[in-house]
Amino acid sequence: MECEKCKIELKEYSRFCPNCGEKVKTLEIKKDIGEKVIKQLKNILTTIESKKKEESKKHTLAHFVIKKLAHNH
Ligand SMILES: [Zn+2]
Repeated sequence: MECEKCKIELKEYSRFCPNCGEKVKTLEIKKDIGEKVIKQLKNILTTIESKKKEESKKHTLAHFVIKKLAHNH
């Protein structure tokens, strides 16, 4: 993605253009949802890691979903 104003390449997670300060519009809603979900999943991971044992399937799934979300932007 690029800045609407100065067209420099932006990182996926940028909220503002580091060059001109323009607010990045496109991903806001999705990104906010994604961040919430990722936070929840990280909490789940933390819980799972404290348990370990038979939780490896969920653990793998959570990693998978986090990766997916990270790429969906
Ligand atoms: Zn810019």
